[in-house]
Amino acid sequence: LTILGIESSCDDTAAAVVRHTDGQPPEILSNEVFGQTDLHADFGGVVPEIAARAHAEKLDVMVETALATSGLTLADMDAIAVTAGPGLIGGVMSGVMCAKGLAAGSGKPLIGVNHLAGHALTPRLTDQLEFPYLMLLVSGGHCQFLIAHSATKFQRLGGTIDDAPGEAFDKVAKLIGLPQPGGPSIEQAAKHGDPKSHKLPRPLLDREGCDMSFSGLKTATLRARDALIAAQGGLHPQDQANLSASFQAAVTDVLTEKTRRALAQYLALKPAQPAIAVAGGVAANQSIRGSLSNLADQHNVRFTAPPLKLCTDNAAMIAWAGMERFRLGLIDDMTLTARPRWPLDAAAPAMLGSGK
Ligand code: ATP
Ligand code: FE
Repeated sequence: LTILGIESSCDDTAAAVVRHTDGQPPEILSNEVFGQTDLHADFGGVVPEIAARAHAEKLDVMVETALATSGLTLADMDAIAVTAGPGLIGGVMSGVMCAKGLAAGSGKPLIGVNHLAGHALTPRLTDQLEFPYLMLLVSGGHCQFLIAHSATKFQRLGGTIDDAPGEAFDKVAKLIGLPQPGGPSIEQAAKHGDPKSHKLPRPLLDREGCDMSFSGLKTATLRARDALIAAQGGLHPQDQANLSASFQAAVTDVLTEKTRRALAQYLALKPAQPAIAVAGGVAANQSIRGSLSNLADQHNVRFTAPPLKLCTDNAAMIAWAGMERFRLGLIDDMTLTARPRWPLDAAAPAMLGSGK
């Protein structure tokens, strides 16, 4: 099977071709991403109108490039998969319209994919992980524990009750004068900092279950910053490094401790070959990856994390999630619509699971 994937739900315009032959590992034949970071740089966040226009302008060329790089043409595709939500509605609509046009023109089947399912199924693309596995999906807009029972059944064990960690990384970076996206700049700065320099809270650790909170941690970091500015009139690079290291350590501790609890619930199901996977942009963080990997080792559970390029938004994960649906006979038609909100866990209330 060979599938073209299209992704445009946030600030990356992406297209990819993924091929899978039975009995062999899947192959990513191309994976093109055009990031819009520069377009939004002056605004301190993603501006929906600018994002939607940039997606509309870039989608065609990204699809052409992805096909050219793969050495294939539209005629070689078995289906066209596209992110149909959740995300910024203008961008999702641009992608869905593009995919519908390609499907109508080529007569190929159209498959609408949930962006979060794309992130959550990535470990099956990169490591051929078997169901059921425990997934920590931790990104710019989301943070949740899921048991992936199948390509269409995700059981939510808990998640953030306010900000997503990626959002917190981005906001804290802004507060302490580091460039966007905040995750990589904080990780870089933290290398030279002391994680014990500021006593930051580990919210909700006293509460049972897997729910998390990151907004109080952000406020506490702001207070620590203000105290430094009041005392010395500004922030030195060493202060940025110390604040970054302390903040990153707090996020790592919270994610690790809550993963321990999610793991206990998952292991109670007695999966034959237990595995835990982490995905989403924040999964690129080496401190978080390392800590979760240690936790998994302690429990003799396999740990996998996709390569960094497949943790952040990309279209290979959408092509792969589309392939999983295609195999189950789940195909859409021209009535496919873009959904700004779309919780992965069908039983969840509509407002849960999506932070934006
Ligand atoms: P969602 O998938 O929830 O809709 P998104 O698509 O914007 O959100 P991703 O592209 O998966 O999110 O991830 C982007 C986020 O990951 C940003 O908030 C960014 O700061 C964060 N991030 C990227 N690299 C790192 C890192 N090394 N450490 C921590 N956070 C990181
Ligand atoms: Fe994403």
